[in-house]
Amino acid sequence: MKGFAMLGIGKVGWIEKDAPACGPLDALVKPLAVSPCTSDIHTVWEGAIGDRHDMILGHEAVGEVVEVGSLVKDFKPGDKVIVPAITPDWGALESQAGYSMHSGGMLAGWKFSNFKDGVFGELFHVNEADANLALLPDGLDMAAAVMLSDMVPTGFHGVELADVQFGDDVCVIGIGPVGLMAVAGAALRGASHLFAVGSRPNCAALAREYGATDIINYREGDIVQQILDKTHGKGVDKVVIAGGTAEDTFVQAITMLKPGGRIGNVNYLGSGDYVRIPRVEWGCGMGHKIIAGGLMPGGRRRMEKLASLMSTGRLDPGKMLTHRFQGFEHMEEALMLMKDKPRDLIKPVVII
Ligand code: NAD
Ligand code: ZN
Repeated sequence: MKGFAMLGIGKVGWIEKDAPACGPLDALVKPLAVSPCTSDIHTVWEGAIGDRHDMILGHEAVGEVVEVGSLVKDFKPGDKVIVPAITPDWGALESQAGYSMHSGGMLAGWKFSNFKDGVFGELFHVNEADANLALLPDGLDMAAAVMLSDMVPTGFHGVELADVQFGDDVCVIGIGPVGLMAVAGAALRGASHLFAVGSRPNCAALAREYGATDIINYREGDIVQQILDKTHGKGVDKVVIAGGTAEDTFVQAITMLKPGGRIGNVNYLGSGDYVRIPRVEWGCGMGHKIIAGGLMPGGRRRMEKLASLMSTGRLDPGKMLTHRFQGFEHMEEALMLMKDKPRDLIKPVVII
């Protein structure tokens, strides 16, 4: 089968591979709609998780089941399914402890385009199909539903990690697609003032649609000062980080956070050896400013719940799709768009 792959750090291309084998609990799926992720860019061009050779990229897909293993109960060939980016081994001890995303080791629930072939192939393998696939509900736009694989659950997980509560003042740093979904998630969770830090007009406009009350443009001065000015010098209760760097963003987040506040980071820190934390602003280590960083949990139940937010009209992640391609061969173009990030891009999708 054909697939678009990471050939090595900084190198991508089309390759031919044997089709994957289907184990008794597994499924083989062909992609119907896929989207590239900024994480693919960190992986290939920053070598952020180490070198990979001839590994098919991609972890965001809606697909059609082609084959199921003998023990799969709830899916059959022909079913249209949402495929989460994170597909844990649900029997692992880490999953039993509540950390499915780390089943089998840190970040090991993230399999596609990390240590097995991803969804940019003619076929891909899904482990534990009953636990990791969700049926695509009737009437849901396939392209929009691809956002359920990663953008929606990751943005929402940032909100969970920050533990946003009714009435909280919240700041979301970075309003690419992940940050935009964090804005939407924080609004659904009852944020009051909801500050979205970004500079691109299309992202800012969409952030407002998803519930941001204020746009903080980092090109118009220090974002911490802007937030302090808008909160009578008090800062915010919660921060979600979905953009920026290990060097600067945590400094800003900690400085703008009230004592007792929480930071939820879902940004993939692709480079640098250390994350910088400001000592005094962190209360000399005693400020009760909690930093939580995580990979989204994945799995079927989460996909079904988030899909029902779309079916009921409470969330429309399809508004983020700025570029639509038709045809398998456009996966390359879509990925390169994600790398080059033209100003009008929020998220591309490829319909196959
Ligand atoms: P993106 O690049 O489209 O968006 C990031 C945004 O942050 C951009 O708009 C950029 O302009 C902005 N930004 C950069 N520097 C900033 C700064 N100093 N202050 C404020 N904003 C700044 O990326 P995305 O697709 O939205 O993904 C966001 C991050 O989440 C990426 O690092 C991605 O790899 C990661 N990610 C994590 C998970 C997970 O499970 N934890 C899953 C998917 C993606
Ligand atoms: Zn991703």
